[in-house]
Amino acid sequence: MGKSETRAIQPTREENYSEWYQQVIKAADLAEASPVRGCMVIKPWGYEVWENIRHVLDGMFKAEGVKNAYFPLFIPMEFLQKEAEHVEGFATECAVVTHHRLEKSDGKLVPAGELAEPLIVRPTSETIIGESFSRWVKSYRDLPVLINQWANVVRWEMRTRIFLRTSEFLWQEGHTVHASADEAMALAGRMLDLYETLARDYLAIPVIKGRKSESERFPGAVETMCIEAMMQDRKALQAGTSHFLGRNFAKASNILFQSERGRMELAWTTSWGVSTRLIGGLIMSHADDDGMVMPPKIAPAHVVLLPIFRKDSDRQPVMEYVENLAARLREKQYAGRRLGVEIDAKETGGARGWEWIKKGIPIRVEIGPKDMAKGAVFMGRRDTSHRDRKSVGTDLFVDTVTDILDDIQYKTYQKALEFREAHTVFIDARDGFYDFFTPSNPQQPEIHGGFALSHWCGSPECEKKIKDELSVTIRCIPYDRNLAGDGPGRCICCGKESPCRVVFAKAY
Ligand SMILES: [Zn+2]
Repeated sequence: MGKSETRAIQPTREENYSEWYQQVIKAADLAEASPVRGCMVIKPWGYEVWENIRHVLDGMFKAEGVKNAYFPLFIPMEFLQKEAEHVEGFATECAVVTHHRLEKSDGKLVPAGELAEPLIVRPTSETIIGESFSRWVKSYRDLPVLINQWANVVRWEMRTRIFLRTSEFLWQEGHTVHASADEAMALAGRMLDLYETLARDYLAIPVIKGRKSESERFPGAVETMCIEAMMQDRKALQAGTSHFLGRNFAKASNILFQSERGRMELAWTTSWGVSTRLIGGLIMSHADDDGMVMPPKIAPAHVVLLPIFRKDSDRQPVMEYVENLAARLREKQYAGRRLGVEIDAKETGGARGWEWIKKGIPIRVEIGPKDMAKGAVFMGRRDTSHRDRKSVGTDLFVDTVTDILDDIQYKTYQKALEFREAHTVFIDARDGFYDFFTPSNPQQPEIHGGFALSHWCGSPECEKKIKDELSVTIRCIPYDRNLAGDGPGRCICCGKESPCRVVFAKAY
């Protein structure tokens, strides 16, 4: 240690936010860039976060009656063409398979065996799953169909950033079929609620729920609902979406059912998803200038035990003590799984402690001969200063460890919520709106006001003007009346009448 004023991550958030983000990922050993352009390698410490997200969501889906299934990675091009808006929305980012064989030509491998019909690597699976649904659904008795798939998808992105925007990413995509519009819409709403619960109660990320304006909708959807979170650079991150697809995809895939009255009718469908992007959101919400901060409920591990040996003869008794403590802790449950305990005996000294700070583990515990003699451990929390450590009786520590984790979870959420509230402002004057989104410091052109809750008349022209002039978009039309405001007002752009406030922000 010793250089307590120097932060572990260089540069700091203030100095260069986007470089800070990359350095946190590296220091916490979450993921790395791969030799394949735009694709990432998710390392164990990052992948376990994804596994935990998956575990939590999978349980919530199943409680709603959703079943998991798996569909092909490849989609025939003709499938994608069936829904006009859909193909238009994804055409520019499709990876296309055109050959199925390699041949040697002049000693070099070249693609051969051209496919009569190219295959698309799925950017999303509405069309291929819809084809199955058209065969699965015959009568109203078959409905609803509630399916989820855990998979990878590919979107050929030009500018990529680990977790936030990668050419290949992991996600879940839910797809459902219903006999009525109301039922489909209600299901899509419930799934959005589950995403909010995941974000708030597990990831400790406060989100704003709402619906998208027409221009921001999923290609082919009738309604797109979303959760939006504020990152520490005050930009918005779309953290999850749920779409009511009306009958558009049923029409494209020919999903028909015989109604109770005996008529053949087109079904109503939904789709909804969250991705590894959430891990980017987790980092940008909670990490600080010392590295990652893991909310306990989603952390790969909760406690690291750091044995300290002053001399060789300490090793055996200290390790016995530590292993015994680990066993007692591992008997405990936290957030639906066994308490995760790591033992790091590889060296003593400050570097090891800093490694775990940078990884964001919620609780660090040092144990040396002196602590053992007192029947105590020396504990530090990731959500407080690294200098702020204290001695706690070992039994007391074991008895209260889950309370400590709950306290860290709660404070991590509160901190993120206070940050968002401090940078979310009602703005009614056009000049004030433009000032809010103009960086005050030319050294930091990205730093700006945050979220503006302002009136919008509903016209795509006003939306586009603001986007063109400020790179600010409508993140959502919020459901919360406290955010939407309590009545009509005047559009921030044109001054015409507006029914409610919307969330304007710069976004990832
Ligand atoms: Zn307007």
